[in-house]
Amino acid sequence: MPYLFSETSFVNSDVIYMDNHATTPIAPEVLTAMMPYLTTHFGNAASTHPFGIAAKDAVEKARAQVATLLGCSPGEIIFTSGATESDNLAIRGVATAQAEKNHIITSTAEHHAVLDTCHALAAEGFETTYLPVDTYGMIDLDDVAAAITPKTALISLMYANNEVGTINPIAEIADIAQKHGVVFHSDAVQGIGKLPSNMETLGVDLASLTAHKMYGPKGVGALYVRAGGYERHPRIQLQPLFYGGGQEMGVRPGTLNVAGIVGLGAACELYQDREKRNQDREISPTGVLRDRLHEELRTRLTDIHLNGHPEKRLPGNLNLCFEGVQSHALLAGLKQVAVSTGSACDSESVKPSHVLTAMGVPHELAVTAVRFGLGRYNTAEEVDVVVEEVVATVNRLRELSRGM
Ligand code: PLP
Repeated sequence: MPYLFSETSFVNSDVIYMDNHATTPIAPEVLTAMMPYLTTHFGNAASTHPFGIAAKDAVEKARAQVATLLGCSPGEIIFTSGATESDNLAIRGVATAQAEKNHIITSTAEHHAVLDTCHALAAEGFETTYLPVDTYGMIDLDDVAAAITPKTALISLMYANNEVGTINPIAEIADIAQKHGVVFHSDAVQGIGKLPSNMETLGVDLASLTAHKMYGPKGVGALYVRAGGYERHPRIQLQPLFYGGGQEMGVRPGTLNVAGIVGLGAACELYQDREKRNQDREISPTGVLRDRLHEELRTRLTDIHLNGHPEKRLPGNLNLCFEGVQSHALLAGLKQVAVSTGSACDSESVKPSHVLTAMGVPHELAVTAVRFGLGRYNTAEEVDVVVEEVVATVNRLRELSRGM
């Protein structure tokens, strides 16, 4: 049954939400699908009575919905608590399952869920190679090929960057990995549900996704494991992170989050239905709004710089440096819009985002970066309000710093 689309969300605030890379509001259609599993259909999917069977049926329907979006078979989907767990399971699970190999390749611009898992494995004796990225935040294919050794157990490189939106050449990386017989995992969190999401086309062996970046609930995600993966594929062995009741074929035990899983499945189906509706448009509606925001800011402000690739970038991403205006001061001054900065403040200093640093953005510029993350529910009117406020606030802060 096709969804009745609602273009309104539950967002009900005077503040305009433009932080959709951090999380997205739940779609009303997704909540509707979940509600019975939070109320009347509360069974444990492992139980064999009618309550359990209803829950299990819902989980399997959701598995099929996720698989349809990814163009894979339902047996290739393992439900998890979100992408942090999926990343940990993929990287640690693959690395520790190959006793004869001890080398992992990743990049300096990955999410901390990947970076910190690699750091932890390094502390346990694994060798890790952190590939550099170019000034756009993109991986160089020659670097991938050059880093592979006979000891390489896994390559883990993200589909699209969560800060600057840059899209990596995943299919080409997959070709290299395959040629060398190395397992390839991609943290595909920001790409799935926004970019082409067919696993066969992308060629990855494992991919992490999470519901809350695609208008689903928080605390639920999945790991795609290629073609029977850890069970039948001779290349992919996966060591579980923890042990228990044997759910998810023993790879991810624990009572299933039925309502969350139903929400993830519904979010996948909803995205596909919307894509079909938008298929005649060359640029996504979110991309149009993002470009309008960029164009207006570029026209009305001097000394702003785009971070990330000008074209190979997520449609909703706009990461800008506003020269001379510290991002924390700008965020504090913006009362009508919720955006984010990748930098972290402590009492002594501002630490710029590791992604911008990896891209070679100088410190004094990196601490002025602000990420606008546009999403499904943003409107042109909102963009216009945001432009006015950003322009006024940047101008005011620049005047203040010049002592005017
Ligand atoms: N990977 C990327 C690229 C992300 O953007 C995020 C969320 O910020 C994660 C992993 C972690 O996802 P989750 O919040 O589902 O654990």
